[in-house]
Parts: sequence; C-alpha cells; structure tokens
Amino acid sequence: NTIHFDDTPFEDVFDVETELGSGQFAVVRRVRDRKTGERYAAKFIKKRRYATSRRGVTRQNIEREVRVLQKIRGHSNVVELRAVYETASDVIIVLELVSGGELFDHVCAKECLDEVEAAAFVKQILLAVRHLHSLHVVHLDIKPENVMLKQRGESQIKIIDFGLSREIEPGATVKDMVGTPEFVAPEVVNYEPLSPATDMWAVGVVTYILLSGGSPFLGDNRDETFSNITRVRYHFSDRYFKNTSKHAKDFISRLFVRNVDQRATVEECLQHPWIRGPEGNAIDIRKASCITISHIQSFKTRQRWKRIVELVMVLLKSSKSSRRIGDGRYDADDMVASCTLICAEEGNLRALHKLSALHK
Ligand code: ATP
Repeated sequence: NTIHFDDTPFEDVFDVETELGSGQFAVVRRVRDRKTGERYAAKFIKKRRYATSRRGVTRQNIEREVRVLQKIRGHSNVVELRAVYETASDVIIVLELVSGGELFDHVCAKECLDEVEAAAFVKQILLAVRHLHSLHVVHLDIKPENVMLKQRGESQIKIIDFGLSREIEPGATVKDMVGTPEFVAPEVVNYEPLSPATDMWAVGVVTYILLSGGSPFLGDNRDETFSNITRVRYHFSDRYFKNTSKHAKDFISRLFVRNVDQRATVEECLQHPWIRGPEGNAIDIRKASCITISHIQSFKTRQRWKRIVELVMVLLKSSKSSRRIGDGRYDADDMVASCTLICAEEGNLRALHKLSALHK
C-alpha cells in the first residue's frame, strides 16, 4: 500500500528560492507559499529510476521517511512536516523552515559556553528523543549536523533529517548498518539489534563533542573507529576535560555503555543531575566551567574538510575503482581518515596538498 503524494504541480503552489543544504540524493531549498507568503524548507529527494540503479532513493525508503515524519508531528524540538508532493523525478517533502543554522556553528560564534548552556541544549535534544522514543521511532542519525536552531540568536533546538529513522516496535528485531561511523553504537558495528538505546549512544557522542570539540571514538581510519567503539575505548583527556564538571563526565559515561540494557534511557538522562541542575539553592557547579570554544571550532573545521575529502573520494571512486598514488594503491577510506586527521592536527594547508596530489 504505497502512499499517494500530492501531484499538483509544485511550482503552482510554491516559489523556489535559495538552496539551504544538500545530502547524497537530496537538495533542500527554501520555498515560499505563493498564497500566504509563508516560507518553508522543501527537500527534493531524487527517486530511484530502476531497481538495479544505485542512484536515487527507493520508494520504500522515501515512504519510510514520510511515515516517520507524519507520526512524529507536534513537538517543538522536532522538525514539522507540512506536505508531500511528487513529480516524475522527485518526491518533495515540505518541512517547517529551520533558519538558525547548526547548533555547533552557533556555539562556535560565541566567546564562551558554560555547562549550564550546554546542558540546556542537550536537554532539548533529550526532549526531542523522548518524543520519538515514546512513539517507537528511533532516529539513527543523531549527530551535530542534524541538530539545528529554529531561529538565529535564539536557543530553540530542532532535530532534522529522518532519512535513516525507523519505527521499531518493542520486541521487534531490526538490524542494519546505518549511521555515520563516528556516532554509531557498538550494536550497529556488530550488526546486532537496533533499539532506542542506539540513539542514546549518539547523544553521548554529541555531548562529548559539545563539551570538548574532540570526537570520542574517532580513529585514523574506519576500522580503528569501529574497534574503539566496540571496545568502548575513550577517555576524558586533560587537554579537553580539565575544567569539565564530574556530573558532565558521569552523564556521558552512563551513555557509553556496551550493553544496551545497562545504557541510560532518555528518561534516566532527563533525571540526571547534570541535566536537572542543582536542587534548591545549591550552587550550580556547572557555571564554573567554561567550554573552550576553539576546540569546538577545530571540530567544525575538520568536519568541513571531511565533507570536501569525501566528495573528492566519491568522484575518484566513480571515475576509477582504484588508482595509484605515489608508490602504493590507496584505500579510499584510509585516505579520507588521514586527510581529516591532517586537517585537524596540522591545519588546512597540507590537506590541500594531499587533495591536489589526488587530482594529478
Ligand atoms: P544526509 O545525506 O547528510 O543525511 P539528507 O539527504 O538526508 O542528508 P537532510 O539532512 O535532511 O538531507 O538535509 C540536508 C541539509 O539541508 C541539512 O544538513 C540542512 O543544512 C538543510 N535542511 C534540512 N532540513 C531543513 C529545514 N527544515 N530547514 C532548513 N534547512 C534544512
């Protein structure tokens, strides 16, 4: 029973304006309702044309995203679905416009972020996640890029991108290798059942990065990242966590738990002292620590470079399946990881050289 989407010509209803962002098979553009003048974000998803093609998104996956968006409507921290249209080539999902940019960009623009502010952001992520989990929806792609601010200069968070989300009824077994390597939980790496706990691990990773700018499990390549994840190998290095409160570290370590039954649930997280703050008139120790914004900025730089490197890799992979560089063959994943590391640790210049070497 496929869903029927509105086939009124999209251009009759909306004026299409600037591009807001894009993903692998989707472009998101700002649009204006011609009748009301109201602005929205329209996600144009390319439909897969042939079953054998690797381009575009299958009808099943598009419908899954739409169904999830329909189900989760009505929470202030979750992006709201307005309408769905269909053309010969695309399904167009019309969403509320989220115009404040990524949370991490907002944080980078500040001089200082104390833990009270950080915890207030994490609390909003948790409220969104509680809403999803209460409806048996698991997001499966919680990461900094998908945490946005509703308006510039305001602090209301909106979770976006339900492209990988699943409805997982209690007792059902769903396994899939989905997500973004840095943020996935051990059960994803090991192809074990996914559950709401899978999102909670990702909330831990986002919190760790927000407090430090460092990525807890990121290794030199994908295998190393996965191995760090499955062994739960991370630490609170002094460089990044010298000033962090013990409550904050405790909060994170309740989430980095291998056994899904022992990992903190969203309800437990909302009750955690780091999120609730001090009782009564007690002093709020979270105010004492100021998060070093420069670390978060370097995370952002690394992330931007990673996107560029990934793009180059996709281009290279599609032109030739393997290619010689210098003396040896390269493995695309290793190259991405090493370029990213170089960007992070030694600035952008060397990464540029690496990239230009790839082009030769
Ligand atoms: P990816 O391949 O990265 O998972 P995707 O194809 O699933 O991406 P989205 O993440 O949903 O697409 O959207 C891509 C980008 O468009 C986002 O990173 C964001 O910058 C922008 N965007 C998405 N939804 C909105 C919105 N409602 N309002 C404003 N911008 C948005």
